[in-house]
Amino acid sequence: MVIIFAAILIAMRLAAELWLNALNRREVLRHALAAPPPVAAIMDATTYEKAVAYTLSKNRFARWMLVFDAGLLALVVFSGALPWLFSRVDAWAPGHAWSGAVFILIAGALLGLPGLPFEWWEQFRLEEKFGFNKSTLRLWLTDKLKGLALAGVIGFPLLWALFALVRAVGGTWWLWGWVLMFAFQMLMLVLYPKLILPLFNKLTPLPEDELRARLLALADRTKFHAQTIQVIDGSKRSGHSNAFFTGFGRFRRIVLFDTLIAQLTPEELEAVLAHEIGHYRLGHIPRMLAVSAALQLGGFAALAWLAHSTWFAPAFGFPPGVLAPVFLLFGLLGGLVTFWFSPIGNSFSRRHEYQADAFARDALGAPAPMVGALRKLAQKNLSNLTPHPLFSGFYYSHPTLVEREQALIKG
Ligand SMILES: [Zn+2]
Repeated sequence: MVIIFAAILIAMRLAAELWLNALNRREVLRHALAAPPPVAAIMDATTYEKAVAYTLSKNRFARWMLVFDAGLLALVVFSGALPWLFSRVDAWAPGHAWSGAVFILIAGALLGLPGLPFEWWEQFRLEEKFGFNKSTLRLWLTDKLKGLALAGVIGFPLLWALFALVRAVGGTWWLWGWVLMFAFQMLMLVLYPKLILPLFNKLTPLPEDELRARLLALADRTKFHAQTIQVIDGSKRSGHSNAFFTGFGRFRRIVLFDTLIAQLTPEELEAVLAHEIGHYRLGHIPRMLAVSAALQLGGFAALAWLAHSTWFAPAFGFPPGVLAPVFLLFGLLGGLVTFWFSPIGNSFSRRHEYQADAFARDALGAPAPMVGALRKLAQKNLSNLTPHPLFSGFYYSHPTLVEREQALIKG
């Protein structure tokens, strides 16, 4: 029964994703020959043609990936491979917290292997074809190895602590597990830009010149007391550009991609910075953290319910009453349920984007710099400006450019 239910969930998600993918493809093809007027104002004909080709290439790639991922998930979950691996690893220290953690890490590493050729193809064929790939095979492989090492160094103690906690506190373990995981995430928010990001990228303070003075003046004006603005060498791997914000409270910092600085005028960079400050000043970050904490509490409650059940783990071939396999299954199958709720999360995120855009417009006194920045980003990143409304409604964490422009001008 449980197996059939899981199979239906996998098939349902795959069907929905393929349907959305096809819908979006048709919508892009429908506009491929002539851009709709609001889009023609954003991209010239050559760029638009390239953006359509890029979108269609990514769409085709995504279709293969969806089928592959669903097939791999079904194979892994239903083949009995995981219970076999668990019996091997558990034999090293039966029922111990550390062997449970090792099992999850080994399974996770093995599950990442079959997708590697696809990831390589995406970076060195697809992105390369459109001029976005700046990485080398050597850098790409080093990144993968570093990622694996980090998963071991950070993931092992965390999982070990979690499983050890379960034995120590008894029935309320899920509450304490949730506290531990959330505390860990808060710690990572602070440590990530300091310890982990520098393993992959070089972060340098924005040099003391006119641009820096201008951006710091803007930060002052918008009551964001920035200690530093940092530049990240995103151009090392990709031509795509972005800006982001990490940390919270005293640890907050703003990071700009070097590609972004190369592409935008100082005034447009001010607008992008004002948008990021908007997220901070409007309280979006604590709100998202609170929502995520609440969802994770629900996740831990569900995990405890499944772990204490006599039917869940045995249905997939595991012995009952052992926690590590339930954690792994929960991680593998949880997305089959949360997938259907992602439009809700994305719609909240889009509302925040509109608010941050409005904040940036008011901080700069006009919509033009923000519109200019967004247009350039869309041109340089070859963004799809004609997604199907159902596709963007489901997947997009940011409104489309046409929607953002309309809101900025109307507002
Ligand atoms: Zn934003």
